[in-house]
Amino acid sequence: MIKFLDLQKLNQPFETQFLSKTKEFLDKGWYILGNEVKQFEKNFAQYSNAKHCIGVGNGLDALVLILKAYIQLGNLQKGDEIIVPANTYIASILAILQADLVPVFVEPNIESYNINPDLISEKIAPKTKAILLVHLYGQLVEMDKIMELGYKHNLLIIEDAAQAHGLPFEGSHTRGFSFYPGKNLGALGDGGAITTNDDKLAEVLFSLRNYGSDKKYHNDYIGVNSRLDELQAAFLSIKLPHLNAENEARKNVAKRYLAEITNTKIVLPTCENFDKHVFHLFVIRTEKRDNLQEYLWNNGIETVIHYPIPPHKQKALQNFNQLSLPITEKIHQEVLSLPMSSVLSDDEISHIISTLNTY
Ligand SMILES: *Cc1c(COP(=O)(O)O)cnc(C)c1O
Repeated sequence: MIKFLDLQKLNQPFETQFLSKTKEFLDKGWYILGNEVKQFEKNFAQYSNAKHCIGVGNGLDALVLILKAYIQLGNLQKGDEIIVPANTYIASILAILQADLVPVFVEPNIESYNINPDLISEKIAPKTKAILLVHLYGQLVEMDKIMELGYKHNLLIIEDAAQAHGLPFEGSHTRGFSFYPGKNLGALGDGGAITTNDDKLAEVLFSLRNYGSDKKYHNDYIGVNSRLDELQAAFLSIKLPHLNAENEARKNVAKRYLAEITNTKIVLPTCENFDKHVFHLFVIRTEKRDNLQEYLWNNGIETVIHYPIPPHKQKALQNFNQLSLPITEKIHQEVLSLPMSSVLSDDEISHIISTLNTY
């Protein structure tokens, strides 16, 4: 069976380093917000070309905390409207709701699956204060158009970069990352981070993630407990230097899929520029998706659906269930994610391609 993502194989090369770090960690006896978190924050800020990196508990919290920090700074107010792609993982929407803000859904471009910048203007109302972008599947959003809109309407631009580690970002400077194990840079548990060039925002964020306190038992904000775990930070510092090579390997898998899958029943993703995609996922579309998934499974290939139900159709988001977002709905009915990682072998890729071509 070819796994959708073989995490054991992916992390195996780091095992010796993980074990010696763990021994060091046990010997030191410092478990929360120690040098490992500080060091990783420094490493990831440098890698990301950002002034600040704030380690947090997970990717969802990274987004919630950015929004809450902007509320603390007076840039956002409860009830403000935030433009967000309708075609995303539900976390992007939940972050907005958890910060007492209002999501305004915008349909994607059917070619890129990312938010369609040309549909944003018509959604901008007096209460609109920010755009939360998502670089879905690892593909850069059309940033120049978005930055222009942001400038024209005085909107904050925030990026959900949970699927986009290593992307050469453009324009905005405040991003939330997830280090969930299956992401391009994955921990061995939960983890997340925010990168930003905004000094004031960073100061509030360092405090918000730790009970709203930057001095022990002095609380300036109604904060949360969402700290990046010390051991996860240590593991992430071990893996970070290999991220670029892993992303290159993902691109090479994508290049083979794009060149060699020729079955006309299958719609391949478009990729105009390989410099603007880190292939967190390789997502194809087909009309009889469930049928194709079963066929692949019977031929020893595991696939995953990202995602079967769009956020606005989820039971949890009943207030939005009546929205009609046909492009998003079509995508959710037709998508299927092929195995994608840096540890797929050439033989495995060949088997996936030939199986698809005989479907
Ligand atoms: C994974 C993911 C998140 C949330 O990350 P967690 O670490 O699981 O909280 C947010 N947005 C997108 C687009 C994601 O893929």
